[in-house]
Amino acid sequence: MTESKSSSESSVPETIDVCIVGGGPAGLTAGIFTARAGLETVLLNTGEPILERNAHLENYPGFPAGVNARLLLDMMTDQADRNGCERYERLVTRVAETEDDRLLVETEEGDVVTATYVVCTSWADTVYLQDLENVGLISRGSKTYIDVEDDGSTGVGGLYAAGRIAGEPHQTIVAAGDGARVALTVIHDSDVPFYHDWVVPESYFTGRGREVPPGCEEIDNGERQRREAESMDVMQSYFENAHPDEPTQHPSVEEE
Ligand SMILES: Cc1cc2nc3c(=O)[nH]c(=O)nc-3n(C[C@H](O)[C@H](O)[C@H](O)COP(=O)(O)OP(=O)(O)OC[C@H]3O[C@@H](n4cnc5c(N)ncnc54)[C@H](O)[C@@H]3O)c2cc1C
Repeated sequence: MTESKSSSESSVPETIDVCIVGGGPAGLTAGIFTARAGLETVLLNTGEPILERNAHLENYPGFPAGVNARLLLDMMTDQADRNGCERYERLVTRVAETEDDRLLVETEEGDVVTATYVVCTSWADTVYLQDLENVGLISRGSKTYIDVEDDGSTGVGGLYAAGRIAGEPHQTIVAAGDGARVALTVIHDSDVPFYHDWVVPESYFTGRGREVPPGCEEIDNGERQRREAESMDVMQSYFENAHPDEPTQHPSVEEE
């Protein structure tokens, strides 16, 4: 797996389209979608996605006998990288509104990033939103959730939330799906021309006298076979050996 860029290696771009806070299933999936739509996307994450604690993931569609959760995270991370989502290891400490209706994202490492859109997927941290009066926060037990509309938007223009932090059920496929759904809201709210993110066989649109819609791609049979062969090679390499990492134990168990 490609490690995210640390503060010593490189600096986060100062002005971007989309900043995603959190690199679990919701954030990585949101990053795949917004980057594929051509929006300059930066993902800031520190700490472990909660899925690292799972022993064997058996309810994520596409893996009939289940899958190692850490392997799935590696594959999602590589897919985000491959599609142009830039990842940095950073702790986001503050988000504020700018005078020109954008959002300022500050990190503990000293970065100040101006983003048109911010997608919060940072289970279980909302502290960095404390200066935004119009973001609703909901307390349930010891946890705090971000209050969102059905499409993932919040009371602050350009600020969205997805996954567990947005109160979604505690399952990986739901968090990933919500990341995709909220990313589509961001794409629709931006001025990127977009129809569907689809790859279709040659002539699917043009054979009916239609132009290939924005966000779609027509590929011929040779290219389809090349991509399939590459995908088979890539997947075989992921499943060659057992994953080296153990599940992370619950902190209170480790302390005992
Ligand atoms: C023990 C255990 C077993 C589970 N087993 C299953 C299962 O079998 N099947 C299933 O479907 N689901 C399972 N789940 C649930 C599933 O893992 C979660 O619902 C899902 O992963 C949530 O994804 P998310 O992207 O919303 O949050 P997360 O994956 O937690 O991602 C949030 C990320 O944001 C980072 N972050 C937080 N604050 C900041 C900040 N300020 N700046 C930068 N980064 C920040 C976090 O460190 C983390 O990396 C399990 C969970 C646990 C705890």
